[in-house]
Amino acid sequence: MKQVAILGGGPAGAMAAERLARSGVRAVLLDEKLAWEKPCGGGITYKAYQQYPFLRDNDTPKKVVTDTFLDAPPAGSVKMRLAEPLLIYSRYDLNRMLLERAERAGAQLEKTRVLDLERRDCGWRLRTRHGTIDADFCVVATGARNPLRAVGTEWTASDTMYALGYYVPNEQNHIDIQFPPGLEGYIWVFPRNGHLSVGICGKGEPASALRARLERYMEERGISRKDAKFYGHVLPSLENPAWRRNRVSGEGWIAAGDAAGLVDPITGEGLYYAIRSGDLAGEAILTEHSSLVEKARAYRAMIERDFAADLAFGATLAKHVFLGRFLFGTVPAQMVRFLRRSPRFYNLMQDLLAGTQPYGTLKGRLFRNLNGTLHEIVMNFFLHRLIPRENRAAG
Ligand SMILES: Cc1cc2nc3c(=O)[nH]c(=O)nc-3n(C[C@H](O)[C@H](O)[C@H](O)COP(=O)(O)OP(=O)(O)OC[C@H]3O[C@@H](n4cnc5c(N)ncnc54)[C@H](O)[C@@H]3O)c2cc1C
Repeated sequence: MKQVAILGGGPAGAMAAERLARSGVRAVLLDEKLAWEKPCGGGITYKAYQQYPFLRDNDTPKKVVTDTFLDAPPAGSVKMRLAEPLLIYSRYDLNRMLLERAERAGAQLEKTRVLDLERRDCGWRLRTRHGTIDADFCVVATGARNPLRAVGTEWTASDTMYALGYYVPNEQNHIDIQFPPGLEGYIWVFPRNGHLSVGICGKGEPASALRARLERYMEERGISRKDAKFYGHVLPSLENPAWRRNRVSGEGWIAAGDAAGLVDPITGEGLYYAIRSGDLAGEAILTEHSSLVEKARAYRAMIERDFAADLAFGATLAKHVFLGRFLFGTVPAQMVRFLRRSPRFYNLMQDLLAGTQPYGTLKGRLFRNLNGTLHEIVMNFFLHRLIPRENRAAG
C-alpha cells in the first residue's frame, strides 16, 4: 500500500490517519476545514477514554463532570453522581488535538474539499478544490453529510435524527438531561469550558418542532438565548434493517464514523464509534497478504464484532426506551422513580451512562434484577412514608 487518502479530518479520519501513519503508511488527510467547531455536545464517555486513555490524559481544555440530573416529567428529576465522569470538549479543541496527533505520527494534512473520486485500474483519483490526488485506498470519513454518494452508508429519512442547540455563554458544573414527553430523543445541557452546549436530538419530528421544544425548555429553566449561537446538524440513527444492509466498505474503500452511520441509536453517542472505527479502518488496511476486497470484508467483520451488532440491537430498543410504558408510567418517568429508590437500578444506569452496559445483555440484566429492584423500591417507599426523616437520621 503506497498511499492512503483519508477523506475528512473529524475524529474518524484523524484516528485512521494516525494509525496508518504510525505504521509507516503514507497517509494524506484532506479536510475542507481541518479543526472546527462541529455542531456537537462534545461528551466523551468512560468507555471511550478507558479504551483510548489519551482522551483523558492530555493538556487539552475540557470539563470533567460527575453530577448529572435526569428529568422525566411528570416524575420530576433525580441526581446521579457518575462513578466514571463524562469528559466534555469543545469540538474545535478535540479535533485539533486528534489532528495534531495524526500529524505528529507522520500524516500529511491538507485543507481542501474533495469534490469527487474516480476508480482507476489500480487505485483512485480524487478531484479536490486544489487539484487531483492519486491513492491506492480511501478512508471515507466525511461525516453525516457525506457528499460522496458512491461510498459510505445509504440511509433513508427514518435512519437519521436532527440534533440542534445553542452555545450559551454561561457556566454550570453539572449535566442536565430531560426526556420530554412523547419525544424519541432528549434535551441536554453540557457544561463546557466557558460556555454551555444546550441541545436536543429527536427522531420523527421536524427540526422546527425540536427547536420550539428546546426553546420552551430554556425559557422554563431561565437559560437566556441572548448572545447564544445556534447550531444544527443531522445525526445518523440507523433503524435495525439499515444496520443489516449498511454499506461500510467496498473494493478499495472503507467508511468510518458518521459516514458509515456508526452512532448509538439511543444515546446519539458518535465520538467513540468514530474514533474506534477510524482505528479499525487503519487496522484492516494494514492487514497483510489480503486483497482490497478482503480488507473491506475484514473491516466489516471487525466493526460488527466490536460494536455494530450491539448498536443494531440497540436500534430495536430505541422506541421503547423513549416512548414505551412500564407499570402504569412512561419508561423515562419510571426510570427516574426507580433511580430514586433502587440501588440496583442506580448501578445499572451508571453502567449505561458510562457506556459499559451492552444493549444485548440489558434486558437480561433488567429481568434478573427485577424482583430485587421492586423489593428495594417497595422497602424504600415504606421507609420514606412510615418513618419520619429525623428518626431515620437518628437510627
Ligand atoms: C448536535 C449534536 C450533538 C452531538 N453530541 C455528541 C456527544 O455529546 N457525544 C458524542 O459522542 N457524539 C455526539 N454527537 C455525534 C458526533 O458529533 C459525531 O458522531 C462525530 O462528529 C462523528 O465524527 P466523524 O469524524 O465521523 O465526522 P465529523 O466529525 O462530522 O467530521 C467529518 C469531517 O469531514 C469533513 N468533510 C466533509 N465533507 C468533506 C469533503 N467533501 N471534503 C473534505 N472534507 C470534508 C468535515 O469538514 C469534517 O471535519 C453529536 C452530534 C450532533 C449533531
